[in-house]
Amino acid sequence: MKYTGRIGVCFVSIFITLIWIMYRQVAGTLVVTYAEIIVFTLMLQPFLWWLGKQYDKSKDTTKRQELQQKEVESLFNNTGAFLWTIDVKAEKVIVSKGIENTFSFTAEEFEQNFELWISRTHPEDEGKVQEHYHRLLSGAPSKCEWRFFRKDGEIRWLEVFGNPIFDDSGHVIKLNGVAYDVTERKQMEEKLESFAYYDSLTGLPNRRYFKQAAGKAIERCHESPEKLAVMFIDLDRFKFINDTMGHDVGDELLKKVSHRISQSVREVDVVARHGGDEFIILFEEIEESEARDIATRILDQFSSPFLLEGAKFFTTPSIGISVYPKDGKDIEMLIKHADNAMYLAKERGKNNFQFYIYEDKDVIDRKVKIERGLNDALTNDELELHYQPKIHLPSGKAYGVEALIRWRHPELGMIPPIEFISIAEKTGFIKKIGDWVIQEACTRAKLWQSDGLSVKMAVNVSSVQFEDDFFVDKIRQVLKESELSPEYLGLEITESVMHNLERTTVTLQELKKLGVKVSVDDFGTGYSSLNVLSRLPIDLVKIDQSFIRDVLTDPNKASLVKTMIAMAEDLEFDLIAEGIENELQVNFLMEHGCHLGQGYLYSPPLPAVEIEKILKQQLMPV
Ligand code: C2E
Ligand code: MG
Ligand code: MG
Repeated sequence: MKYTGRIGVCFVSIFITLIWIMYRQVAGTLVVTYAEIIVFTLMLQPFLWWLGKQYDKSKDTTKRQELQQKEVESLFNNTGAFLWTIDVKAEKVIVSKGIENTFSFTAEEFEQNFELWISRTHPEDEGKVQEHYHRLLSGAPSKCEWRFFRKDGEIRWLEVFGNPIFDDSGHVIKLNGVAYDVTERKQMEEKLESFAYYDSLTGLPNRRYFKQAAGKAIERCHESPEKLAVMFIDLDRFKFINDTMGHDVGDELLKKVSHRISQSVREVDVVARHGGDEFIILFEEIEESEARDIATRILDQFSSPFLLEGAKFFTTPSIGISVYPKDGKDIEMLIKHADNAMYLAKERGKNNFQFYIYEDKDVIDRKVKIERGLNDALTNDELELHYQPKIHLPSGKAYGVEALIRWRHPELGMIPPIEFISIAEKTGFIKKIGDWVIQEACTRAKLWQSDGLSVKMAVNVSSVQFEDDFFVDKIRQVLKESELSPEYLGLEITESVMHNLERTTVTLQELKKLGVKVSVDDFGTGYSSLNVLSRLPIDLVKIDQSFIRDVLTDPNKASLVKTMIAMAEDLEFDLIAEGIENELQVNFLMEHGCHLGQGYLYSPPLPAVEIEKILKQQLMPV
């Protein structure tokens, strides 16, 4: 009723006029005309109209205020928000009903017990809640987020805004504010944080988290000089398992690997996933001897197989370690040097750990000389092949040789392949070197054949060479030129070529068609499974020398060798043992069914003229 006031006022004015008329008539003294009465009444109307308007206005405002209050009340009573006010002196709190949704205590319970809200606060947040309260008492507005326990024990997050109210003399007498239940927002923030700082597959901290933690640790070292170490772990041949068995198996393996690594370190150490199959660990307050112990523990953790989809898989870690402050003053440098050390561990046969070695000027100079010299090595005839016999163990006779490259450097002397092959692979120069090796070896084998020595010739092939599109064509060409029959040529490839299984399979099939034998060198270091190899056209598997070296002293290695021999028999592979140095190793191998071998016991790799003499004495007829 918008105009009730004004209508009412009209009636009132008419009523007053009637009273006036009646009075004039009763009094009878003054004579007033009806016209006078009408004019008087009309003159009164604007004022009365204004009066009515004011009444309507005030009525409207009260109604609106009532409505707003109801809306606000219903908002704070039915949502996860509530209003609160604290009488500072009386230590009394009054809260709106909305608190019941948030805390599951009633507003009355809070009003009756001033201590209740603090007693329900999460112990870890008590400090900041006290700070917030004192800030308000000091007269400053304050905002705070904390966790509290509902009546049923559930933990919820609360965001509280407060304002102090002052008396005339400027003392804080009241605190007023509003509080919201922000649990859902907090959970979302935690999720986002976990995406930003944790690896979703393994649940380990990620590189970003690691760098922040390491940065803080280094700052602590500035305050009290402590040693700090960074460990870089790369899984040997993880890619092979991932590519051959599928990514699900690869993922499962990574999870299990993270678990084993985490089990080997101290609780305070930060194990993070660096990416792919790489992990980094941060150690604070650690001596080198302890880092060494932990690295050994990690290696031990990998001596047993991983069970994935019912099958056993082996993978090993190559570990590099750098130490603060001597190997780097910031985390970037420490990671870089731990990574360098990890590569050294790979070069030194994988499945081991290495500390970062500061490369002094001499070492760097030598590397530069090797890299630069490779270009001239071929044209200057500085490369040569040595040959190591392959032996039929029961008879002790040679049935073939392996060609091993040597570099007679004009300044540095004889350089072993381990020093320059990886450099040649990095620079791509390995292709030219590899072509030369195959040509030289085939020509030599043909020469020996013409001399009555029918020797099988094995040549090492780098994965860079093997993956060349024209590799098979080159082999065909060399065989044609040297007139060596293909069954006399064997190629030794490493498990690293398996990372591109499809392409490798095609190349292997073409080689098989050509009649060339292929063997997998250094088997066991990458632990690709024999089952996988059995699906490929491979003729021979060479057990890596690290197994043979320890076969008599390490029961773990002994049992692995036995398993390899048994499996090779089942899968119809030939097996040859590398690095035989004594008779006891030969006995062990023969006892368990391995009849082919190679090693210093029989002969080291020798130049062609010398090996020729040995072959002439003890070559087995092929
Ligand atoms: P590999 O093919 O596994 O060769 C075996 C290595 O073990 C050779 O080292 C050999 O001298 C050594 N060896 C043989 N018998 C014994 C033993 O009883 N005890 C010990 N401790 N060692 C033994 P080498 O000649 O230094 O060659 C090292 C590696 O360099 C080779 O390992 C092969 O991977 C690579 N390599 C050698 N020649 C070539 C080549 O022409 N091309 C390519 N791509 N790589 C080559
Ligand atoms: Mg070899
Ligand atoms: Mg080998």
